[in-house]
This record gives sequence, structure tokens and C-alpha cells, in this order.
Amino acid sequence: MAVGIATGLLLVPPGSLPELLVGVGAGAVGGLICDIDVGTSKSHKQADIISMGAVLIVAAVLAVDWIFKVGIHERLMQDENFMQIFFPAMCFIGICAYGKGTPHRTFMHSFLVFVLLTACVGFAVPMAAPYFGIGFLSHIFIDMFNKRRIQIFYPSKKGVCFKLCSSHGKVNKILFYAGTFLSGICILLSIYNIYDLGKYFGIIKGALG
Ligand SMILES: [Zn+2]
Repeated sequence: MAVGIATGLLLVPPGSLPELLVGVGAGAVGGLICDIDVGTSKSHKQADIISMGAVLIVAAVLAVDWIFKVGIHERLMQDENFMQIFFPAMCFIGICAYGKGTPHRTFMHSFLVFVLLTACVGFAVPMAAPYFGIGFLSHIFIDMFNKRRIQIFYPSKKGVCFKLCSSHGKVNKILFYAGTFLSGICILLSIYNIYDLGKYFGIIKGALG
């Protein structure tokens, strides 16, 4: 999630507050959703936590939008009708529900699902698509360094893995801290740019000098 948010904000710097908020939420969901396939046939506990996480992120974005009147809701309702959001959302949920039952790092970690889910996001909330797609790809990319093969070309059974690190090891922690730190910096820089805070520094400088 941390890497997904950071990569999205780095590659597509948000130009407005709605874009920033949607970017953080979509990057987080994109970086998280692949692992909805972690459950075994006996236990879906972790997968349920991931599903809940995705729902909570969307809810949090909508709550922040509502409290701070960011304008995402208005923007979505402006020229789209309800079905244009509802239908892609149902497709998204359907793909994830199917993916939940597939073996780990197969269907849900493939280019096929990347294209399908990014298309769903793009139809429903166009400005979220680049952040979602980048978050999704960043997840697949860092999973490749793991010991378990990823079937990125699903339905082909051929997989990729570099066998360099474990998903519970040091590299995982480093990526989490680096991702969180970078995300924080990117969010601050975006706010600085969106509100053109540079001019205030100019005013202070002028007043002092
Ligand atoms: Zn994964």
C-alpha cells in the first residue's frame, strides 16, 4: 500500500485537491487488492482483512471528501449518471470476488486483471485510474523479488520470481518505511504546489528583507 501510494504520486503528481485525495485512495487500493487471493481453502481471514481494508479506504476518501468539501462527489455526479459508476463497480467487485478463490499470486497478480480492474476504475472514476494502475503494477513488481512465482501472464502457467527476499523479511520492512516516508513527502509537496504556498515564502522573505 505504502509503495503503491508513493509510486502513484511520484509518477502522476496531483494538480488539485480532489486528485490528491483520489490518488492516495486509489494508489492504496491498487497496491493492496492483488493480495485478496492470500486465503487458503481453509481460511479466508487475511483475504477478508484485505477486502475490508479496500472498503475502508474508499469510505475514508468519501468521508474526507464530505467533511472537507473537497468536491469529489460533486465531480462524479456532474456528468455521469449513477449506472456509469454502478456497473463498473459491480464488475470490479465481481472480479475481486472471483480472485479471492484463486491460488495466491496467480489470477489476481496478472496483467489480465490489471487491465480489467484498471478499466473498471477508469470507467467509474477516470481520475483514479492512473493511480490505481500504478499501485497495482508496483505490487506485482515488488512481489517478483519474492520466492514464490507470480503468474503475470495468466492464464499461462509460466511465472516470474527472482528469489531475492521474503515477504516477511527486512526488505519488506524497508519498502514499507521508504514508501510511507515518500508518500508523506509527496502529499506535502502536492499541497505546497496546489495551494501555491511558495508565494507566501516570498511574502515572508520580502517582509523580512
Ligand atoms: Zn502480492
